[in-house]
Amino acid sequence: MDSSKYQVKFVSVVVPVYNEEGCLDELIERTVKTMDGCGKKYEFIMVDDGSSDRSAEMIRAAAEKYSGRVVGCILNRNYGQHSAIMAGFSIVRGDLVITLDADLQNPPEEIPRLIAAAEEGNDVVGTIRQNRQDTFFRRYASKVVNCAARAATGVRMSDYGCMLRAYRRFVVEAMLKCNERSTFIPVLGNSFARNTCEIPVSHAERAVGESKYSLWKLINLQFNLLTCMTTIPLRLLTYFGIFSAGCGFLLSLYIIIRRFATESGDSWAQSGVFTLFAVMFVLTGIQMIGIGVIGEYIGRIYTDVRARPRYFIEEVVGRAEPEAEK
Ligand code: UDP
Ligand code: MG
Repeated sequence: MDSSKYQVKFVSVVVPVYNEEGCLDELIERTVKTMDGCGKKYEFIMVDDGSSDRSAEMIRAAAEKYSGRVVGCILNRNYGQHSAIMAGFSIVRGDLVITLDADLQNPPEEIPRLIAAAEEGNDVVGTIRQNRQDTFFRRYASKVVNCAARAATGVRMSDYGCMLRAYRRFVVEAMLKCNERSTFIPVLGNSFARNTCEIPVSHAERAVGESKYSLWKLINLQFNLLTCMTTIPLRLLTYFGIFSAGCGFLLSLYIIIRRFATESGDSWAQSGVFTLFAVMFVLTGIQMIGIGVIGEYIGRIYTDVRARPRYFIEEVVGRAEPEAEK
């Protein structure tokens, strides 16, 4: 393998910050120290996602203090973690982009290992949290989500929740070309990568403050994750409708047979309740199929409205001369 092709020269670290005044000083200090020590050119981009505390001020101060190394990107209001990261992506200059949470749950000291993994030829480097320090509920909820996401999106990744990740610049450019409003960056990133790998990283408890995700925001995020790659949930409705209508049909067949096959016509088959059940199953089934079909169209509209690039060329090889001028 041509390893010089994967050599990383300039690293951009992107961190979304939302009301993290308690962690910022330590985050900046540790990240700058790590990056100074790793021997690459770098920029540390902090995106302030409309914080209402002193975060924005602190970012401004840090950008002044570490001028040329720390870059502040201040948003006018709160857009959510993934949009904030996208905003950071839009101004990166490095050839490898690393995302990180501001709360120090993923130690910045792991960044050099991500760079090393990228230099081995990976376009996306994911991470798996070792001895995860979240609550029991969060851990199991995210296990279920990871499984569902893997099944629905077909993108292999064991830990979607961990934001400490590295993306090559071309993957970031491709993500920026996606016009949709609700994105889930790790899934989107993987869909544009050729080689990916995952490395285990340590995970600490949140240093200061509380998780910025309420249960409601978390559920919303999971919907983004699912709908970001597929329209399967819509199709499930059709399948369920077919199943229900099928059951109703079988039930009515059974009732008719019982009615005529047995001498007296089974009394339960004659009484209208079961007949009504059968009819109801068929009708609701048909309704669901109808909604599912409408859903199919909506799904297509959704895919078109997102206007994702239909393909993504990684590189063109073997073209000899620039086209001759006529
Ligand atoms: N964050 C953000 N905007 C938001 C919510 C969160 O930029 O609306 C940032 C937050 O500052 C942190 C990261 O996203 O850097 C992850 O948030 P948090 O640690 O609260 O999430 P959890 O670790 O609980 O998933
Ligand atoms: Mg966190």
